[in-house]
Amino acid sequence: MKATYAFEDANSKNRVLLGGKGAGLSEMTKLKLPVPPGFTITTEVCNKYYENRKQLPKNLMSEVIKNISKIEKKTGKKWNSGDNPLLVSVRSGAAISMPGMMDTILNLGLNDQTVLGLAKITNNPRFAWDSYRRFIQLFGKVVFGVNDEKFDSVLKMSKKKQGVADDSKLNVDSLKKIVAKYKKICEDHTKQKFPTAPNEQVQLAIDAVFRSWMGERAVIYREKNNITKDIANGTAVNIQTMVFGNMGNDSATGVVFTRNGHNGIKEIEGEYLVNAQGEDVVAGVRTGKDIPKLQKEMPKSYKELFITCKKLEKHFKEPQDIEFTIEQGKFYLLQTRTAKMSAFALIKTSVDMVKEKLIDKNRALSRIPAQQLEALLHNTIDQSKIKDFKQVAKGIAASPGAASGVAVFDVKKAITMGENNTKVILIRIETKPEDVPAFFSSEGILTSLGGKSSHAAIVSRGMGKPCIVGCSELKVDYEKRKCIANGVTILEGDAITIDGSTGTVYAGIIPTVAPQVTKDFKTILTWAQKTKRLGIRANADTPDAAKLARKYGAEGIGLCRTERMFNADDRLAIFVDMIMAKKINQRKNILKKLGMLQKSDFIKILKAMEGYKVTIRLLDPPLNEFLPNPEELIDKIYKNKNNEKLSDLKKVLERAKELAEVNPMMGHRGVRLGITYPEIYEMQIRAVFEATAELVKKKANIKPQIMIPQISSISELNHIKKIYDVIKSEMEKKHKVKLEINFGTMLEVVRACLTSDELVKTAEFFSFGTNDLTQAVFSFSREDAEGKFLPEYMEKDLLETSPFQSIDKNGVGDLMKIAISQGRAHKKDLEIGICGEHGGDPNSIKFCHSANISYVSASPHRIPIAIVAAAQAAINQK
Ligand code: ADP
Ligand code: MG
Ligand code: MG
Repeated sequence: MKATYAFEDANSKNRVLLGGKGAGLSEMTKLKLPVPPGFTITTEVCNKYYENRKQLPKNLMSEVIKNISKIEKKTGKKWNSGDNPLLVSVRSGAAISMPGMMDTILNLGLNDQTVLGLAKITNNPRFAWDSYRRFIQLFGKVVFGVNDEKFDSVLKMSKKKQGVADDSKLNVDSLKKIVAKYKKICEDHTKQKFPTAPNEQVQLAIDAVFRSWMGERAVIYREKNNITKDIANGTAVNIQTMVFGNMGNDSATGVVFTRNGHNGIKEIEGEYLVNAQGEDVVAGVRTGKDIPKLQKEMPKSYKELFITCKKLEKHFKEPQDIEFTIEQGKFYLLQTRTAKMSAFALIKTSVDMVKEKLIDKNRALSRIPAQQLEALLHNTIDQSKIKDFKQVAKGIAASPGAASGVAVFDVKKAITMGENNTKVILIRIETKPEDVPAFFSSEGILTSLGGKSSHAAIVSRGMGKPCIVGCSELKVDYEKRKCIANGVTILEGDAITIDGSTGTVYAGIIPTVAPQVTKDFKTILTWAQKTKRLGIRANADTPDAAKLARKYGAEGIGLCRTERMFNADDRLAIFVDMIMAKKINQRKNILKKLGMLQKSDFIKILKAMEGYKVTIRLLDPPLNEFLPNPEELIDKIYKNKNNEKLSDLKKVLERAKELAEVNPMMGHRGVRLGITYPEIYEMQIRAVFEATAELVKKKANIKPQIMIPQISSISELNHIKKIYDVIKSEMEKKHKVKLEINFGTMLEVVRACLTSDELVKTAEFFSFGTNDLTQAVFSFSREDAEGKFLPEYMEKDLLETSPFQSIDKNGVGDLMKIAISQGRAHKKDLEIGICGEHGGDPNSIKFCHSANISYVSASPHRIPIAIVAAAQAAINQK
């Protein structure tokens, strides 16, 4: 194993080994760009360091010293010399850039002798002592862990004493005194002499950079950004000849983006500081000047910068984020990396770069992190206005987008106010299906309890409404109609804003920015549509959702949850009546009413999706979900506040108790309901046929499919199929037309996957319900898992990502593969989709592509993400 590589010798494609910074420096060196000479110590050495209980490998220092002598030859400078001293920077750099998370030391090699040499050769003592004080501060902070404030207060005092405001105005005398005081601060801290030998300094610096890999900041950053070991494992160390932006007014340092990172416009954008070193720009010690000013101030350097930007873009085929330094008019490059951009800018630059023939369409699609597109499909908070508003609390970001309105704690009130065109934010401790009518009339939903899969979260996501759940700081008081968090009280009627993308609650109405499906965005989607193989359908339960899904490019509906239709205000009461009905005839009468409503919904949805398949799933959740929970009922009966009829309440309570289940997930739901209450499934099947007949007579090109949930055996499926067959022939006779409605099953029970070879004999299509399937395969109840132990599993590295977010390829995925191959063995072209929430997750989409699934189905707002992710999967496979 080779521990070090000179920039000109390294394999600059190997970012994992060299880190991003090292790879970039090497690549630029090979392009003959002006990079100060240096070398990289690999990430492998970092890992050895940790294996070795934080000891540098034995022969490392001799290699480092050899490399330094090579630099001496290239630069003509001398290490530890009182005449023309070589100074270096010691810079961290992992495979993925983690800006500001790890440490870098500048001006290393200075001591009481070399500082004199530097002053002499540059004829600029002020500069030499300025560099020295910078070195001691950074070294003290990074290597010894001295608190920055100690140095800063000395600096402040000195400026005051000398009567100047700016660091760059400090004179030699002041700087010498600062150096002495800084050393004293370090020595007081370590109880040892400040190291003077450059070899010792460099060794300590390397050690400190390696240590910073496991520093708290860096560890948390990696966790938050999902940077796992296979993405970046350890940091490299880059040792590089110093060039000086602080050598006078003909010197400067700066950072630029080769294109605007916010809007993608082709212009170099950034800032610079005259007579300064790199850390000043980053730390914001002085406010930088905008790059266009450089054109006037240093025209020759500006031109060089401009040409360099172009060259780098052409070479890397990506907008770059560049660090440069100008030393007495000479231009140097110190870093380049792919620029991080907003979703908007990514789209614009992708389209622009294709027009400029810099990249092809496949590359233009691949470079956009699909997940990031989410930001373009929802209202977002106007970031320029945010500072004028108070942040009240933070919860779990459950459904993206920003919304404002007046706070309302009562479901009925939210409905009336919403219907009167007041913008309402519904605030509840938690929500139940009976609260759903209020979701329709609210702009957003905020709950103090619950996790990402709580009722409020799932329903909001389905509707595309912003939602925050688990906002535990928020104490909600229904009786007093108010909530309190962090000392702020929000009364009913007070204005609030929620940001469901970040989970933040603000007081007041913050202006929002509407989603923008720009021309460029449409272009990208068109390219993606042509590239992908997977079909993309929508999970849509209402005509509005179906229309939105079409607008975003959905090719059909993969999951239409019929129970969601009962949630609307005018339906829920009827549905509850149906549940309460004791006698079958009474129930059948009520079901007739529901059947009419369902039929009219189906007609609208099928029409919105003309030409595409619409998969309608029959009733799935257990009936008790539609009734208030028994505790609430008891409470109501006890207080009997709202003067509701006591005997009615008691009846509901009795029924709710009857229907209560120990484990509703595995209880009386799905096809099991269809078997014990056949009249419910009969009503639903009939409604689909009626809607179909009506549209077929009008020559509409519709493709309905009926799907049965929770199937575990072929006998269950055949049982329902018989009902379907009877209704089909009855309907065909009644309407005197052929009615083609595919009959299929969900695969969400383990046994169904394992017996798919039997199910396929009756089923005309399969659709994996990956949410329930994941629960079943792991024996995790999702709500409990996410609320109680999954976060700790992730913390302890027992799971890398939640299986509810990305399909667990090894377990759930393998089971799916069994089901697919058994199914297709019988019917070669069997349609197999997935309709869990995984359908909108790019990693799961990649898996579905490779498993040869026919389509994924995702909520309307995730359709564009799914389209782009599916195109990327197709490109990657080529
Ligand atoms: P980060 O990863 O935090 O950006 P860097 O290693 O890039 O840290 O260093 C921060 C800044 O220090 C750079 O932007 C650059 O301005 C300055 N710097 C680093 N090495 C040198 C060098 N050899 N000569 C001059 N300035 C340097
Ligand atoms: Mg940098
Ligand atoms: Mg399910």
